[in-house]
Amino acid sequence: MKRIDVIPMPNKVEFLGGEAKTDPEKLSVSIDEKLGEEEYSLTVDKNGIKLSGGSEKAVFYGKQTLRQLGKTCPCLRIEDKPAFPYRGFMLDTVRHIFTVEEIKKLVDAAASVKMNVMHWHLTDDQGFRIYSSRRPDATLKGSVRKSSDFGRLKETGEYGGYFTPEEMKEVVDYCAERYITVIPEFDVPGHTSALLHAFPQISCKGEAVEVKTSQGIYNDILCAGKDETFDVVLDVISDILEIFPSEYIHIGGDEAPKTRWKECPHCRKRMKDEGLKTEEELQGWFTNRIVDFLKSKGRKAIVWNESLRSGIVDGSVTAQMWMDRKKHSVKFANEGGRIINSDFFHYYCDYPYSMTPLIKTYNYNPVDKKIRDKSRVAGVEAPIWTEYINNFDYLCYMFFPRVTAVAETGWTENKNKNAADFQRRFGAYEKILDEIGIKSAPEEDWNPSVFDRVTKTLHFFTGLLKR
Ligand SMILES: [Zn+2]
Repeated sequence: MKRIDVIPMPNKVEFLGGEAKTDPEKLSVSIDEKLGEEEYSLTVDKNGIKLSGGSEKAVFYGKQTLRQLGKTCPCLRIEDKPAFPYRGFMLDTVRHIFTVEEIKKLVDAAASVKMNVMHWHLTDDQGFRIYSSRRPDATLKGSVRKSSDFGRLKETGEYGGYFTPEEMKEVVDYCAERYITVIPEFDVPGHTSALLHAFPQISCKGEAVEVKTSQGIYNDILCAGKDETFDVVLDVISDILEIFPSEYIHIGGDEAPKTRWKECPHCRKRMKDEGLKTEEELQGWFTNRIVDFLKSKGRKAIVWNESLRSGIVDGSVTAQMWMDRKKHSVKFANEGGRIINSDFFHYYCDYPYSMTPLIKTYNYNPVDKKIRDKSRVAGVEAPIWTEYINNFDYLCYMFFPRVTAVAETGWTENKNKNAADFQRRFGAYEKILDEIGIKSAPEEDWNPSVFDRVTKTLHFFTGLLKR
């Protein structure tokens, strides 16, 4: 038997002949400084198991491989390291909230396939889910919406909830034990209705704003002209920095309509004072002001690709590409910027399998052909937004196996990937998900027929409109 059922597929496997037991008592572990930080070598033969890693993290990865090899495996030598340094998943806990225990299950699954980032979407129009010690009103007022009306998914009654600093630290620590960095997202200047509900004075009009009950893009965004906006935003960021030790903080920047900014005297004055020609440049200036604050604290920012439109965003940011028809992120990468790929059409796991079959997710190459230096692509991330996902079982159905396919793309070199083999190996990997308490979508749902692709996708999108 010259086959192993491991996800992600190791990049170099040499079969030595025969089989051996993977008895944990025969495991000897060492650190080898000649190996990279995420690089390990693993030998299993009749004499025992030798695992060397460039760091404790690399040893952890070697152990994940060993765990998936099962109780008996072919005698082999694996030399392995990841294709990309950034391998993440994103969880939206705004539209629907998930418990710390449920989040830990996702983290366990991510760690088992050598992912190393959890991007935690914590604020949006439909709720503010970080408890802010400096601005408690943001949370106490902004975390509750009056009802939920996400197309076909309607829920009557108030919906709310937030994470205390202790709960967020618990997630951070749990992740750290599994070599996963938590990157929190505080989305500004758009997607801020929940924050504006608590602080209407920092919108352009200064009028009352409701915590939104539906999905969408809303015109009321943070006013870039008022200094108080930055007082509030930097207070919340200061709270975030105390809870999350990550080098990178995600500050959003997506879907920020400029309707209010065009009419607002404060925003007009800011543009004049700062010599900014367009509202897009004003957003660039807004972003840079926060980036400067983060820099002063030794941190860096990640932004969604829309933030690059201004052309003036600080080159130290990492841009997360999700929907970028004008390829601003490619240009940014070719100018030396760092990007992460979360392509909407391939990696958004909240869209049905009929629109994004597993094989489409798996086969996607995250390095755009026009990017000259592949190393500018830090890696991949699979987001799951939760407008239409209100329970953990359904979340897992949508996320698995697609998130696992993204994990393999993040780790396994393109030349070593194979979609059919991945789908076969996923059958064996499900044992690990069972142990964690996660149930994936059944195999018959992964790659729908052409007929199902059309009808089920139409059904999904018409459902969004049913208010
Ligand atoms: Zn304004």
